[in-house]
Amino acid sequence: MTEERAAELVNSNLMRLAELHGVPHWRISIRFGLEDGDADQGNGFLGTMTCDAREERERACIRINLDAFKDQDDPDQLFLEALSHEMKHIVIAPFEAFTKAIEPFIPKEAWDSICAVRTSAVERCVRNLERFEFCLTHRDVPAVATTEVANSPPVEVNSLANPGGPK
Ligand SMILES: [Zn+2]
Repeated sequence: MTEERAAELVNSNLMRLAELHGVPHWRISIRFGLEDGDADQGNGFLGTMTCDAREERERACIRINLDAFKDQDDPDQLFLEALSHEMKHIVIAPFEAFTKAIEPFIPKEAWDSICAVRTSAVERCVRNLERFEFCLTHRDVPAVATTEVANSPPVEVNSLANPGGPK
């Protein structure tokens, strides 16, 4: 895949994907080329993209390995699926704060093992989000939130204006 085609796909899909994942307020930058030893371990997306998400500043950098899309049956589709996968890493980025918080208290010799478990857990969370997304988009599943809103009594304007007042 060329940088030009990748840029077209990013420009026409990144904002829509960010909105769909609830992170349109994040600043997401795109870089071409992975850093040494850096590759997403997620199912099916090995070596295609990585995402470095900094929750405290709501900024993320998605790195794209253009070579990984060579010789693919449908490189555009794989590209968009990988981009969507990386977007889910942004969704669960707040858990990185936990990792940073515990690092000073973990013995160095145990840190690699803990990171391996964390990486595996993160990828499984992302995979579950992908299943959830597939379910919502490919099956006739009623949206729970919509059902609850539809069944709840209408909200009275007075209760909003005076939330702590008498009922
Ligand atoms: Zn991943």
